[in-house]
Amino acid sequence: MEDFIRFLGTSGGRFVMAKQLRSSAGTFMHIKGKNIMLDPGPGTLVWWVDANPCIDLSKTDAIILSHNHIDHSNDLNVIIDVITKGGWTKRKPMLFAPAECIEGENKVLLNYLRNFIKITVLKACTDYAIGNLKFKTSVEHRHGVETYGIMFDFNCKISFIVDTKYFPGLIKSYGGSDILIINLVMNKGKDKIMHLCVDDVRKILSEIKPKKCIITHFGRTMLKGDTNKIARMLSKETNVDVVAAEDGMILNLDEFSRECRDRQMELDF
Ligand SMILES: [Zn+2]
Ligand SMILES: [Zn+2]
Repeated sequence: MEDFIRFLGTSGGRFVMAKQLRSSAGTFMHIKGKNIMLDPGPGTLVWWVDANPCIDLSKTDAIILSHNHIDHSNDLNVIIDVITKGGWTKRKPMLFAPAECIEGENKVLLNYLRNFIKITVLKACTDYAIGNLKFKTSVEHRHGVETYGIMFDFNCKISFIVDTKYFPGLIKSYGGSDILIINLVMNKGKDKIMHLCVDDVRKILSEIKPKKCIITHFGRTMLKGDTNKIARMLSKETNVDVVAAEDGMILNLDEFSRECRDRQMELDF
């Protein structure tokens, strides 16, 4: 397996995190030889060490924070300290995060760790690179704090629609995604809560029509409604292959990247 995504945690919402009904660890990716951790929530270090040597902490290239909420950023500092051996390693991992995570009242990064890493501030709809791996941010999400989704574009386009309320701009921003990973927190929508619900995801999938969708970041009502059942229902309704993530689940990307590469070659020809 060359490229893969490993969901170290799948919890979303305070209740599921507090009771650890699902792990609140982040999402690890190995793409084009790069090791990336997205949103290291509480418990990430424990789950990550547990997954060693399959995913080797000392070879981390980048950490990406989508926003500063505690369920996405709690283990950031301890992970930076561990992977840089307290600043004694030569290689400096990269940190990509919105300005709010780095500076200001609710920053999450401790000052003493700043020199151990290369910091890049994320902005909306901007291109970034981790060596030869390119990614792009989405439009700014509607989530109460500065939040951006992430889109990797190598052989295939893999996008993470992280925490947000639904708004039509999501469709345009994430259009053309081959694999969509969506933080689906609520079964039924509630006006004041800035998260996606099942109806929102149905709309997104019907419009974007990705090849595959992984739903994750489940709140209490999603667990109660049975995440697998909801995934099957969404698959049937939208004709998109929808899978509900489980803690520790591995998504093998090789097959997708091969398929997309072949398609691109046909187009080029
Ligand atoms: Zn969240
Ligand atoms: Zn959030």
